Amino acid sequence: MIAMHIVVIGSGFGGLNAAVELRKKFKHSQHEITVISDQEQFIFRPSLIWLPFHKHSIEKITFPLRPTFEKIGVRFIEKSVQSLMPKQNYVICHDDEMITYDYLIIASGASPDWARIKGLEGKSASIYDISSALKTRKRLEELEEGEPIVIGVAQENPNHGIAYEFLFELDAYLNEHLIKCPITFFTYEKELFDGTGKEPTEKLEELMAEKQIQYYCNVSIEQVDDGKIYLNNGERLPYSFLFVLPPYKGKKCILTSKDFEHKNGILPVHESLQSIQWENIYVVGDANNIKGIKSGRAAELQGVLAADNIVKQMHHEPLQSFQQDTIYFMELGKEGAMFIMNKPSKQGTIQCTMSGILPHIMKRAFENYYLLKFS
Ligand SMILES: Cc1cc2nc3c(=O)[nH]c(=O)nc-3n(C[C@H](O)[C@H](O)[C@H](O)COP(=O)(O)OP(=O)(O)OC[C@H]3O[C@@H](n4cnc5c(N)ncnc54)[C@H](O)[C@@H]3O)c2cc1C
Repeated sequence: MIAMHIVVIGSGFGGLNAAVELRKKFKHSQHEITVISDQEQFIFRPSLIWLPFHKHSIEKITFPLRPTFEKIGVRFIEKSVQSLMPKQNYVICHDDEMITYDYLIIASGASPDWARIKGLEGKSASIYDISSALKTRKRLEELEEGEPIVIGVAQENPNHGIAYEFLFELDAYLNEHLIKCPITFFTYEKELFDGTGKEPTEKLEELMAEKQIQYYCNVSIEQVDDGKIYLNNGERLPYSFLFVLPPYKGKKCILTSKDFEHKNGILPVHESLQSIQWENIYVVGDANNIKGIKSGRAAELQGVLAADNIVKQMHHEPLQSFQQDTIYFMELGKEGAMFIMNKPSKQGTIQCTMSGILPHIMKRAFENYYLLKFS
């Protein structure tokens, strides 16, 4: 077989796992693997929840990627991809360098699409990256007694878990600092943390009641202004501190590439994660339109599957489909955390929910294991 060049864009959960899996599969072959990423650091993003509350340091949730890739023989290019030319099989970087490929894995993630909700841009705190998490920390340090707080999940956001984590971590933080602020929560889900089973919903309902947090389910945002958020059920929620999870959009390099069909930059794929348009392109993680919670877990599994399917495609074997499952650790402030598992099996879905201090310890242990494994 002639030597192939497989290029991965992005080095988050999806890209990192895709590249490592490709290297394993092609251990004794001439095939070349290149990762192009605009960040040299891996960020364990689930741990960003702890930054605003002084519960973790940046050094402990990041590691440099170049040594990891060098160790396993993957070429690492720290550049930003500007556009993709799928007809010609190359990508163009910010410095105009053109990188050709035989197979491409797009693992560039997604961005918060603040502009999709009228008036929301610039008004909400955020923890999607390190700098916004630190800004949120600063704002929380300035929070004063009585400031009305609104936390919510806007329509079409694909990872609701972050809002619950922020809600309960903030509640614990306020208690610890003896600051009393009224908190209102809302979500477009029909029930709290919908779609993950009865137990997680009931646990969250119990906590809301215990902490006397008023909440609305099955609502969407009509618009936001400087001091109020307008819900479609007629409620006008006054806020002084706002934390809303917005819908996602694809990265700029997708939005500006002419030869892709997409919805707000999110790329449609077959169940095998192969692009619906381009046979030699796979899309993994937050960048694709696979249904279900957009999570690090899904991105990781998809990165591995895309690598496996590229090998299968090279050998003219049938491709495998992605099997969605949920394994989620949700931080709950003083309560510890909740572990939620919904795993399809031949016998039916295996469900498990556990809450308390143990899932919190498990989340920390998993983070440590992950960072040690790859750094
Ligand atoms: C606060 C928070 C808490 C979370 N909690 C959990 C949790 O408990 N459990 C869970 O499973 N998930 C959780 N998630 C979700 C999870 O982190 C994401 O779903 C996951 O990071 C998606 O991985 P990805 O590889 O698809 O994209 P990303 O992690 O976004 O990685 C994208 C990569 O592409 C690179 N890139 C982007 N554009 C370009 C470009 N133009 N050129 C080159 N490189 C580019 C970026 O630098 C990055 O390396 C959480 C997320 C947040 C923010």
